[in-house]
Amino acid sequence: MGLLSLGTPLHWNDAQKYADHIRSHGIDQFLSIYRARKDQQKDNLLWGDEIEYVVVNVDKEKQKTKLSLRVFDILPGLQQPELDYNAGKSKQEPEALWRPEYGRYMLESTPGVPYGATFKDLVQVENNMKRRRQLAKSVMHPGDIPVTLVNYPRLGCPNELLPDHEPNGQACQSMFVPDEIINPHARFPTLTANIRRRRGAKVEINMPIYHDKNTPKPFVDPTIPWDRELFDHDKEAKEGAAKPDHIYMDAMAFGMGCCCLQITFQACNIDEARRLYDQLAPVAPIMLALTAATPIFRGYLADVDSRWNVIAASVDDRTKEERGLEPLKNNRRVINKSRYDSIDAYISTDDTYKDKYNDLDLLYDEDIYKKLMDNGVDDLLAKHLAHLFIRDPLVIFEELLNLDDEQSSDHFENIQSTNWQTVRFKPPPPHSNIGWRVEFRSMEVQLTDFENAAFSVFIVLLTRAILSFGLNFYIPITKVDENMRTAHRRGAVTKDKFYFRKNVFESNNNKNEEDNDAFELMTMNEIVNGQNEEDGFPGFIPLIHSYLNSTNIDIETRCKLTKYLDLISKRASGELMTGATYLRQLVKRHPDYQHDSVVSPSITYDIVRTADDIAQGHIRVPELLGDFDP
Ligand code: ADP
Ligand code: MG
Ligand code: MG
Repeated sequence: MGLLSLGTPLHWNDAQKYADHIRSHGIDQFLSIYRARKDQQKDNLLWGDEIEYVVVNVDKEKQKTKLSLRVFDILPGLQQPELDYNAGKSKQEPEALWRPEYGRYMLESTPGVPYGATFKDLVQVENNMKRRRQLAKSVMHPGDIPVTLVNYPRLGCPNELLPDHEPNGQACQSMFVPDEIINPHARFPTLTANIRRRRGAKVEINMPIYHDKNTPKPFVDPTIPWDRELFDHDKEAKEGAAKPDHIYMDAMAFGMGCCCLQITFQACNIDEARRLYDQLAPVAPIMLALTAATPIFRGYLADVDSRWNVIAASVDDRTKEERGLEPLKNNRRVINKSRYDSIDAYISTDDTYKDKYNDLDLLYDEDIYKKLMDNGVDDLLAKHLAHLFIRDPLVIFEELLNLDDEQSSDHFENIQSTNWQTVRFKPPPPHSNIGWRVEFRSMEVQLTDFENAAFSVFIVLLTRAILSFGLNFYIPITKVDENMRTAHRRGAVTKDKFYFRKNVFESNNNKNEEDNDAFELMTMNEIVNGQNEEDGFPGFIPLIHSYLNSTNIDIETRCKLTKYLDLISKRASGELMTGATYLRQLVKRHPDYQHDSVVSPSITYDIVRTADDIAQGHIRVPELLGDFDP
């Protein structure tokens, strides 16, 4: 996320009046970029990762952890080298860029400058990530540490914040978390409140509880303040929002307060970016399952392993009409998904694309589609944008309503950046030297920088193999959706199967088109390490090794990259656990665990300590990392 603009944010009642204004100028802004940059060629491969941290205070004496809401105290210091460099006060490129995130306890880091295309760049990623963790820790309040857990296990439980606050804030009106948990910049409380106002209710998040032998059945959560009457919304819990046998959460923070690992690539031109976007879309659910690291929510073990659905529900601003629960009266259409979800359409026009892959009935804004088509944008790209633009802008700053559409992309970004999807197609910012980019967004952050580097490097190499061999991963987009659902299941990596394409080489094309386009349910091991049969899918890792064989990479670098690839390979084969399985096991084996699904403060303390110890290399966990040395 870039640096944020300031101004007076509009209440939803006022903001909605300007929705069409923002959309219309947003599209003009896109068109201005498109006209200027559509033919731009030969941008370099540049790429970068984003790592998000949860900042936790560890009180060793009391053996107690709390979420530290003090990140804004340390951000200015972390950002100073960047500011000095940008202002020309220092010639030293910043080592890292630091950004706040949704949660006041969250921190995001990216490399100071994007990495380049060489293998040498790839082997520096891990050290860069380690350095960032060290930098963050070095400026924190005593006792505060950055951990790369996806979420704080007891977020939303009493007495878990430093400083503490009551859950009685106007923005989220949550029964569990106070507004003080939200980034104080006006954008974030406004986003939170406007999602609730637009929806007409609080967000409703229910994750299935993991039923252990002492978990009551049905499980009706005794920690929900069922009879609270502080806000009108409080009655929603007992009126059905809180489902039995589920962990109920009622605020955006439970989702947007989760940490992920994202990778952004610059493509050499717009067509390559569109191609990468499409090819990475079927990879996204696979990587969500492989990186799954989120088995605990609000102090309970869940029967899912990943964060995605929680975030999807946490920002679901659709009204009852849009969710198809009431006949359409005030809204324009029924919408199949939250703003945070898997993509609905492929966008590439290269010759491997076929219309039949776009088998979801795509919703899009007809007027915007027409405007784009009238201005020379092709059908698929016009539909993609007109699809993003079915959403309303949620945060509008009064002072920024009228902008020069040739100079600014704020209105475009207003809609674009609140469509949080598995992959994002990013146009160049106006008048910048940045090119067309694609962001890969599904991965969960891993406990160690070794793993985070491994998954980042893996994705980069996979894109190199895709482009170098012209790989074709297309399957119908509805199957990608099915894979997203599968990816959440507990232990999906070893227990479930995912749709994947068999023949990924164009050159193998035989006359029978059906055969060429065949896809089937495969195990994770088959997708990552290859199918054993003659005409089976060769597997991501073998494809990457073939790609590396086709380059003249030196032995030392090759060894280092192979270490990363081996980790991914072993995760996929089940030889090594996912973070989710590891954390779940940590809870289940904890002496304080009562086999009732409850993740107590003492268990949370040990989870955080262990997460930090593993990340620092103080303890070895062969079941998670094998004999790799983090
Ligand atoms: P977001 O849309 O997630 O807010 P940012 O604009 O903050 O994304 O960029 C995030 C990532 O993009 C970082 O990893 C950064 O290193 C990388 N990045 C920055 N510039 C480029 C570029 N020109 N090409 C590719 N990646 C870039
Ligand atoms: Mg982020
Ligand atoms: Mg990002």
